[in-house]
Amino acid sequence: MYKIDTYDFNGKKALIRVDFNVPLDKETFKVTDDTRIRAALPTINHILEKGGSVVLMSHLGRPKEGFEEKYSLKHIVAKVSELLGREVKFASDCIGSEAFEMSKNLKPGEVLLLENLRFYKQETTGTESFAQELSKHGDVYVNDAFGTAHRAHASTTIIAGCFPNDKMFGYLLEKEIENVNRVLNATDKPVTAIVGGAKVSSKITIIERLLTRVDNLIVGGGMAYTFVKAQGGKVGNSLVEDDFLGTAWEILKKAEKNNVRVVIPVDTIIADKFDNEANRKTVNINEIPDGWMGLDTGEKTSEICREVLLSSKVILWNGPMGVFEMENFQQGTLDVANAIVEATEKGAFSLIGGGDSVAAINKFKLADKVSYVSTGGGAMLEYLEGIELPGIAAILN
Ligand code: AMP
Repeated sequence: MYKIDTYDFNGKKALIRVDFNVPLDKETFKVTDDTRIRAALPTINHILEKGGSVVLMSHLGRPKEGFEEKYSLKHIVAKVSELLGREVKFASDCIGSEAFEMSKNLKPGEVLLLENLRFYKQETTGTESFAQELSKHGDVYVNDAFGTAHRAHASTTIIAGCFPNDKMFGYLLEKEIENVNRVLNATDKPVTAIVGGAKVSSKITIIERLLTRVDNLIVGGGMAYTFVKAQGGKVGNSLVEDDFLGTAWEILKKAEKNNVRVVIPVDTIIADKFDNEANRKTVNINEIPDGWMGLDTGEKTSEICREVLLSSKVILWNGPMGVFEMENFQQGTLDVANAIVEATEKGAFSLIGGGDSVAAINKFKLADKVSYVSTGGGAMLEYLEGIELPGIAAILN
């Protein structure tokens, strides 16, 4: 298998699947967060420096079918150009004679961005003929879009078949896989996973997989109350999945068998309604009065988490400790984020990935103080669950 570092790009046209699904201002269509574009720069720059030219393809949003102004990638051309420090040409269709003419005439060092792939429904249905059309743009295919690696779309998976000998991961995708494997196959111990978020049901597969790989499992967020109830605690009106009380119990048994320490919050900040302005108090997590719900973890829990995290060599954080979107219920999540930063400063490897913990670490402006923040929400979750991601498999096979 080729690696981006060893492939000879000289005189070659590289067709790169990037994830430029960036947020745009509703009125001006200006890019409001360019993180995803920046993440793709190392791959693009490397290929250009090695004498290649670059054709970029991506989706943006979820258009129904056909052109929609608000989902046009033309809005991001100026930003990509600014970040690359060179002109970026734009093809107003991702296939068709005009687009093919533009890619054909591309010279080494030049960059072409194609219009939104999802203006064709054949992209998401993974239609082979569409993938074949797209493949005409390049001599070599590079997948650098981790965020869509769990989808068997034309440009992320099917197209790899058109480049049996000239396909590879870009730096971003390579780094994502390397970092998540660093957690899943960690030899440095102890390994701690924090799994929070809303529901046990959506995280069972991940938790079960982690139970064979970690030393400590911290359970946070809404799902903690199902564990507390399973142990006989009173959880008032907190979020509970009654159908999963048995599952929670089994997870605890399995953890015990595998010698995994499970940390369940001991105290919680309760509210009399699901509202930032609700009345609040801190109570033991198993003594929540009726009419009240736990929306955050308390100080004692933060202290226990900090202790566990500071003794860890490898940390995975997936899911917030509470309803961190509300100022009054963000402290537990902030405390965990700060403890992860502290542990990282002491030499631990920390990966923040899969969903809302990424939003939380960004909200607290601590993203550059941890080892790695994953760019792929759903893709990272599926990777952690052990599901083979089609976009990755298509390059490897
Ligand atoms: P997930 O997408 O499963 O990681 O869940 C993230 C969501 O869980 C966030 O929007 C949080 O606000 C929410 N959440 C965290 N803790 C609680 C809680 N105690 N009660 C209700 N929702 C919560």
